[in-house]
Amino acid sequence: MTELSGLQIFKYLPAAKKAEHTNCKTCGSPTCMAFALKLAKKQTDIEKCPYAPDALKQIYIQSSKQPQKTVEINGVKIGGENVLYRHEKTFINKTAIAIIIDMAKSDWQKKYQQIKDFEITRVNEKIKVDLIITKNGTLSDTISYEDFKKLPLTEIIDENFNETSEKLINIRKKAILEKDEKYSNPAYVYFNHTDNLKLLCAKASFYICKYANMLVFEDFDETLITSLMTIRQNIFTDPQKPLQVESKIYEFNNPDENSLIFMTTNFALTFFAVANELESLPVPSYLIVIPAEGMSVLTAWSAEKFTAKIVANTLKKFDFANKVKNHKIIIPGLLAHMKDELEEEIKDFEIIVGTIEAFAISDFVKNLKINQE
Ligand code: SF4
Repeated sequence: MTELSGLQIFKYLPAAKKAEHTNCKTCGSPTCMAFALKLAKKQTDIEKCPYAPDALKQIYIQSSKQPQKTVEINGVKIGGENVLYRHEKTFINKTAIAIIIDMAKSDWQKKYQQIKDFEITRVNEKIKVDLIITKNGTLSDTISYEDFKKLPLTEIIDENFNETSEKLINIRKKAILEKDEKYSNPAYVYFNHTDNLKLLCAKASFYICKYANMLVFEDFDETLITSLMTIRQNIFTDPQKPLQVESKIYEFNNPDENSLIFMTTNFALTFFAVANELESLPVPSYLIVIPAEGMSVLTAWSAEKFTAKIVANTLKKFDFANKVKNHKIIIPGLLAHMKDELEEEIKDFEIIVGTIEAFAISDFVKNLKINQE
């Protein structure tokens, strides 16, 4: 049972039934509705209303139970999830990636060092292997296999894709929808050694989406782990907090006062898509990043976070008109309809409508150069 909303709680209270004690304030809230809304947010206690019926108490207690335990291993938290789908609220703890090292094997130190040295940076986040599990010995920054096996976790040994995925989905549904305590332990998938990395990557990617709390590998392969961590980062972003970059003027390939000028929003994925293209252009450029609360171009425009006024203020803040001689700004193609409005507001600059997709920037710049020659 998912958590109750204020409205669902209210239906049980005296005001909804126009009964005695309606809005009596005994609970400390001015109305039954106010009490119901507070209770839904866990800002009050159901016992404060002496007129709450037993039926409400029962379903409230059931719905308030933590569906999945949180387990902390060497500082890495897993589990604690409350929803089946990220858009319902958010996922709490990302799928941890753990590698097993057998210290009885002669090459264990090499493997250990490879794992420790592995680090990727993606969308400003530094990403490393979360956990090392050691067999036949321990190190200060690892957990022994024996201790790992004592943790309140459910193990699924991956032998068959259909069986593993069905188990993962069943466990998560039982935990979240039915709050069944038998399924409240976080679940991890254990992968035996395999040389088929493509299959392993495909399966592990699916298990990250649905619904492994941890993946445990016998082998360490940098390409595999990089791919998995990339998909993991995409799944485990909070939809209510878009990834953002700093709003400022970014420079690519040492621009000067005559260089090309592009513009976009501070939504991280948009920024990096455009930045990667500008970096690889054979010409220098600027990228003006507008503060749009981390929204993508069209979303920002429709939410009035990318307006001519905001663009003008950003240019003013960085005194950009005085820094460059080229007064032409290339805006995203999706904002073509803003051209006149922008030119009206920013009299110092001419607006050029650019591409809809970042990958087309290179061809766009080639054509721009040909037309200018
Ligand atoms: Fe309503 Fe109960 Fe609060 Fe009285 S005590 S206002 S009945 S919720």
